Amino acid sequence: GRRFFVGGNWKCNLNKSAIADLVAAFNEAPPLDRDGVDVVVAPPSIYVDSTRQILRNDFAVSAQNSWISKGGAFTGELDATMIKDVGAEWVILGHSERRHIPQLKETDETVAKKAKYALENADLSVIFCIGELLEEREAGQTIAVCERQLNALKQAISDWTRVVIAYEPVWAIGTGKVATPEQAEDVHRSLRLWLKQNVSESVSDQTRILYGGSVSPANCVELAKQDNIDGFLVGGASMKPTFMEIVDSYK
Ligand code: 13P
Repeated sequence: GRRFFVGGNWKCNLNKSAIADLVAAFNEAPPLDRDGVDVVVAPPSIYVDSTRQILRNDFAVSAQNSWISKGGAFTGELDATMIKDVGAEWVILGHSERRHIPQLKETDETVAKKAKYALENADLSVIFCIGELLEEREAGQTIAVCERQLNALKQAISDWTRVVIAYEPVWAIGTGKVATPEQAEDVHRSLRLWLKQNVSESVSDQTRILYGGSVSPANCVELAKQDNIDGFLVGGASMKPTFMEIVDSYK
């Protein structure tokens, strides 16, 4: 079985004192069943180190982005080994905001390069985000877009054991318009088949595929029941103590 996975992506939100309050609330929750669920939170990069220092040890910490290669003259960037150096174990790569916001516009190839470096040179695990725009869904291109994004990763890496895929339809992110359990499951099932046909049966069986986009305590239980939904990447609802209800949704 694939261990359930719940990630909290804080995006460009919170500050030192808000993080201290949120972490204090998480730290009070009962111990996690470590065989049942992985929990990872991703603060803004400047708070990754301090969050790691105050957060309980059964939660992991992630960055939200990293550079394509070893550090050097890359002003403003983070070498993935620096993330590892402060005790974080994960990095989110290819988030739709980084792919689509006009000032950022990361390509499939850039995202895949970042994943390769983080996995192979920094020993980080990667939450690799994919997903279609509303116009792509309406044009019937959902699966083609997700497969194109995954294919770039396939070209770049060979070891998938530290990769988690997050399917985040862009129209569902921050909109309150969550995908229905059927809509999400349909895509997840197709992605798992793609992994089987294009990577390997064991990667298809073992790789966790998360759903992201307007996940909340109210909708997570029905989504979590789907065979191919192995957890969530949560934005807004991860910055409240009730995030723990989403963490428990696999039970
Ligand atoms: P929301 O949960 O706020 O819709 O954000 C989802 C997301 O983008 C997580 O990476």
